[in-house]
Amino acid sequence: MLIRGTFVLSLDPEVGDRADCDVLIDDGVIAEIGQGLPDAGAEVVDGTRTIAIPGFVDTHRHTWQTALRGVLPACSLDEYVVARCRFGPLFTPDDVYVANLLGSLEALDAGITTMLDWSHISNTPEHADEAVRGLADSGIRAVYAHGVPAGTEWGGQSTLAHPDDARRLRERYFASDDQLLTFAMALRVPGIAAPEVVVDDWRLARELDARITAHVGMRMVGRRGAHVSGLAKLGLLGPDVTYVHCNDSSDDELDLIAATGGTVSIAPFVEMAMGHGYPPTGRFLERGVRPSLSVDVTTSGPGDMFSQMRTAFAAERMRAFTDDEHVPFAPTLTPRDMLEFATIEGARACGLESKIGSLAPGKDADIVLLRTDLLNVAPVYDPVAAVVLHADLSNVDTVLVRGRFRKREGRLVQAGLPSFVARAERSRERILGAAGPLTDAVAAHTKHDPVSIAD
Ligand SMILES: [Zn+2]
Repeated sequence: MLIRGTFVLSLDPEVGDRADCDVLIDDGVIAEIGQGLPDAGAEVVDGTRTIAIPGFVDTHRHTWQTALRGVLPACSLDEYVVARCRFGPLFTPDDVYVANLLGSLEALDAGITTMLDWSHISNTPEHADEAVRGLADSGIRAVYAHGVPAGTEWGGQSTLAHPDDARRLRERYFASDDQLLTFAMALRVPGIAAPEVVVDDWRLARELDARITAHVGMRMVGRRGAHVSGLAKLGLLGPDVTYVHCNDSSDDELDLIAATGGTVSIAPFVEMAMGHGYPPTGRFLERGVRPSLSVDVTTSGPGDMFSQMRTAFAAERMRAFTDDEHVPFAPTLTPRDMLEFATIEGARACGLESKIGSLAPGKDADIVLLRTDLLNVAPVYDPVAAVVLHADLSNVDTVLVRGRFRKREGRLVQAGLPSFVARAERSRERILGAAGPLTDAVAAHTKHDPVSIAD
């Protein structure tokens, strides 16, 4: 395949940014990037009036909640956790399949070619099987991060060990590294599980050669999230860990993450809207750690990376504001930083930076073409600004995952979308109906009275 005449934002230091440029793809891999490449019988894709970027990487999404989109539009984190523990145990394996398939397609539609599925819905081995199958059937590149079952007994100083089914999944689906789906473990930290349980769980992940992703430093009522120092005391920090949120983590804890080579996932919209705390983008940059970005939950926020880039950008620049009118406003964060966080830094956080995250010969062809002839971006002056400040889902024209079309001329390639949506609606109605009335605190912040939804 030859993409002809696009503007390449490669995010690769050697390739750089190139106008009127071609991208030659051979067997799913980028073979060459340059001007006037011969097509040599390749399928030619017209790239004029587009910007080519590496596919976005969402480093933390609870995809299993896709059918519950918008069910908790104004909740706090505390309220969300109550609702999640009510809904999660009611999920059937089929509910997980439909949610993961639909959530992956939603991601692809928005130009997210890689997503880490933070799957704490492993209620039975069948639930986990269906989570993997939903990802696989969409054609997305995904990191399946195996988590614990839903339900309150798996939190609050839980003494239950992470399900040993992780071993079976690792062997059954992830024997090869040369596939679109890779394996990770979504683990608990001290404060959520008992310390000796955490030690065993993390040992299991390392035995299985799986990267670890963990929620840390979220503020909840009566609790400061000193999770990182808890992990440090147990000697568990390392470069194979992605720390999600870190809002309430102390400066010393951020230092520990930096010193041990950890990667970071910030979910800026949800963190600010639900009260996890202030997104720690700048606090990490001060320590030389460049974060990745994530969607987290679509129960309460948008599922695309344009929203995440813009939210984190505005929030971090606001942090540079002072109360002193004599001090000029002097933020340092730029749109290019945001694009890197949403692509190459995401790839690093997934351990996939040798394959994806930038456009360069030898890398897999995970490429998104964004239309530049729409009114929300035209006339384009600065392509990075167009992508980060102005573009949205309407600009996502073409999405390739390892050289295969997942979206073409503005339409997803996957057939059967209306039936998937109908299945998701049925799934949601059944779950909300079975959950019954939520506590007043949660119900007060849902859009509808949950009982009437069930009706
Ligand atoms: Zn999360």
